[in-house]
Amino acid sequence: MKIKAALCNTQQNPPEFKIQEVDIIEPRQNEVRIKIVSAGICHTDIAYATDEWGIPIPLPMVMGHEGAGIVESVGPGVTKVKPGDHVVISIPSCGCCEACNTGKSWFCAKTADLSLLAGGFDFFDTTPLSKDGEPVHILFQQSSFAEYVVTNHRSVVKIPDDMDLKDAGPLSCGLHTGAGGVYSVLKPQIGEWVLVTGAGAVGLAAVWMAKAMGAKVCLADIADDRLQLAKETGVDAIVNTKGMSQEEMTVALKETMDGTGAHCLLEACGVTPVIKAAMLAVRAGGRICQAAVGGKIEFDSWFFGEVDSKEITFSRMGNVSSGLIIPILCELYKEGKFPINRIYTYYSFNDIQKAVDEYMAGKAVKPVLLFD
Ligand SMILES: [Zn+2]
Ligand SMILES: [Zn+2]
Repeated sequence: MKIKAALCNTQQNPPEFKIQEVDIIEPRQNEVRIKIVSAGICHTDIAYATDEWGIPIPLPMVMGHEGAGIVESVGPGVTKVKPGDHVVISIPSCGCCEACNTGKSWFCAKTADLSLLAGGFDFFDTTPLSKDGEPVHILFQQSSFAEYVVTNHRSVVKIPDDMDLKDAGPLSCGLHTGAGGVYSVLKPQIGEWVLVTGAGAVGLAAVWMAKAMGAKVCLADIADDRLQLAKETGVDAIVNTKGMSQEEMTVALKETMDGTGAHCLLEACGVTPVIKAAMLAVRAGGRICQAAVGGKIEFDSWFFGEVDSKEITFSRMGNVSSGLIIPILCELYKEGKFPINRIYTYYSFNDIQKAVDEYMAGKAVKPVLLFD
């Protein structure tokens, strides 16, 4: 079948996404073909396209790993979903390794290979996309910057029919990580203080999950408009850390949270002085989930009070399975407790280049592509 897809043909900065016609295969054993309705644009797509992380990728490639849509057809062996079902496409897992076999598919030993490192190929060591007979490579077993996706059924999470599909795409990445880190790693008790640093998609998802779980939430960031949005959507306290030294940040954060600091921290900023200031603003015995990538973390292990009895977890996707957290996020969304559409800027798929440009210019917190 011929479809339109946004191709990355060269790694360059600024990145270029060109909508071109490609061929997509029929779903094979254990595969699902999905008509994409919405797809979030994530920093990861940009980082690969610009070579920010120094990871060479096979080209041409179709990016996009935050897609949601409607199952169009299924291959042999698929019983999990049927044509017409609404789904979110999440990160791949192999189904065979120890992590997958013990219910912890987010730690799958093959996720990195299946995501990209194996060279943009699928479970069959091929790619479902091609152009003029030449392979077009895939990302995260998904490549949702395209009208249709063929992916393994393991990556697919069924969502309720009354969940708005145009808002569902991004549920599989940053929102998953932020909300999952609170739900699964920090597990705040009612009334505990949760500190969230960084008011991007990861941080705001953490804020809303912590509120839904009955915690008190303090959010730190340097952008007034994002802090204001958090205030309007339920955060208890905000701290604008702009211009503060690391020591000043710690003092301000502690003061805001009863003078003794947070019970839990979801770190979604990834900037070294903020990470340190925030970790020091957690009270002894507290829990820390480091969700952001980037930034260096350095502590004196002997220093009384610095990391004293604090439990630090580095999370992958919030250390929770997509099959568990995505339906929960849909329920919270429907109840108005997970107002993700407040951070979305919608673009037509045809305007993907504009969406990427505006995202890179800081004009959109979370760009979401909508397909006809
Ligand atoms: Zn992502
Ligand atoms: Zn696995």
